[in-house]
Amino acid sequence: MNAPTACKPRVAVHKFSSCDGCQLAFLNLGEALLTLAERVDLVHFAEAGPLDPDTDADVAFVEGSISTPDDLERIRRIRKHSRMLIAIGACATSGGIQGLRNQANGAEWVAQIYSHPEAIASLERSTPISSHVKVDFELWGCPVSGPQMLAVVNALLLGVAPRDNADKVCTECKRQGYPCVMVSRGIACMGPVTRAGCNALCPSLGRDCYGCYGPAENANTDALAAQFGHLGLTPAAVVRRFQSINSQAPVFLAAADKLRAGSHD
Ligand code: SF4
Ligand code: SF4
Ligand code: SF4
Repeated sequence: MNAPTACKPRVAVHKFSSCDGCQLAFLNLGEALLTLAERVDLVHFAEAGPLDPDTDADVAFVEGSISTPDDLERIRRIRKHSRMLIAIGACATSGGIQGLRNQANGAEWVAQIYSHPEAIASLERSTPISSHVKVDFELWGCPVSGPQMLAVVNALLLGVAPRDNADKVCTECKRQGYPCVMVSRGIACMGPVTRAGCNALCPSLGRDCYGCYGPAENANTDALAAQFGHLGLTPAAVVRRFQSINSQAPVFLAAADKLRAGSHD
């Protein structure tokens, strides 16, 4: 890429196959986003206005998975034009909910749904950004948390590495003093294997975590699968807990494959 010339850091937000929810999380920052806009040049952010997808950027946020031949070509171009590339959200970090099709015959699905399947340009698999280009930092979640995104930009503006919190949702849940839905009500909760960052949003509302932040560090999926079994979930139901929004994250995929192969009690 050419060296950016502006004094203010140039920030771009790009969209791939996704629902736009992670961009919205950024937009929903409201006043904090306006303050940020005074410190950076937002050079490309289709949802907010500026349109210049091939421009050079110091920081490029990328939402969405790679699902079409055009996506493949575009992400390589963006990488060339970006000094730092940050993947945001489950689609970009693990292939997203659309990655569920990786377990099926995509061509067959398309043929069943569209009267002219030949008009659909779709890759066989939905894959994360890191499968195709170097990613400097990943922010997980469906959607990501706006404040987390802001913290990443602020860290980069200060010239320090953004903080990666790969601890488990349970740690946030305990810190906030929320009653454990799994212990107190016997509800299967993915918190013990899911990455922190949401401040245990779902348990704060009395419901279980469904794993939208993806796998935590040292996630003991065997123990959790066994616990889900003790709570009465069938093996197929346990597989579905791991095969959800982050179904293609290697740790969750391996847990599901192991269950499918009947390795658990
Ligand atoms: S991660 Fe979730 S909220 Fe973000 S773009 Fe993908 S589907 Fe939408
Ligand atoms: S409710 Fe879920 S996230 Fe909270 S402590 Fe219990 S298992 Fe962990
Ligand atoms: S508690 Fe789990 S499902 Fe709910 S927002 Fe947090 S990571 Fe996502």
